[in-house]
Amino acid sequence: MRVVFIGAPGSGKGTQATKLIEWYGLAHLSTGDMLRAARDAQTELGRQAEEYMSRGALVPDEIILGMISVRLEEPDCRAGYLLDGFPRTIAQAEALDRMLAEKGASLDVVLELQVPEEELFRRLAGRGRADDSPEVIRQRLVAYREQTEPLLDYYAKKGLLRSVDGTGTVDEVFGRLVAILDPLVNSGLR
Ligand code: AMP
Repeated sequence: MRVVFIGAPGSGKGTQATKLIEWYGLAHLSTGDMLRAARDAQTELGRQAEEYMSRGALVPDEIILGMISVRLEEPDCRAGYLLDGFPRTIAQAEALDRMLAEKGASLDVVLELQVPEEELFRRLAGRGRADDSPEVIRQRLVAYREQTEPLLDYYAKKGLLRSVDGTGTVDEVFGRLVAILDPLVNSGLR
């Protein structure tokens, strides 16, 4: 099963992604985690990415696409994966479609976690990560609205989008996601 998981910063996407990959045995492909690892390891790619991440901007598509195309070739991806934080722009989504087409593969579903903006800001302000100053939070929400939200329409037109209410407890939200994915798994997708 190949899943794209979309949600604003603070939507709880990371928490739910961790639970989903365990539950379904999927590889977890988080571009944010990959970039933070590269930054912490002080690789050239990490240094380039940090310039953008530190101000809440999106890292250029070329960097992201190079990273993800390598990752998709790794053996654990054969059993299915959950893309978390990628794609984040239409250009990335189109590039992903091309990469998959080359392998004769396609996406099974795109999940969107919906959380009202006031709630997002409240959750992010309470989280206290180094890149979570109020201005950076604001920028990350702007980047989401302007660059990532258009993807919802892109995937809706392909009939792949399933939107889920991201408010409530972690277990409530997980239950809603499982209710969408279980039928896909049971229908023989892997
Ligand atoms: P995340 O952990 O997914 O919120 O990502 C943290 C930061 O990494 C984002 O604010 C971006 O600067 C960068 N980033 C992660 N994924 C992408 C992506 N697919 N495209 C561009 N930038 C990304």
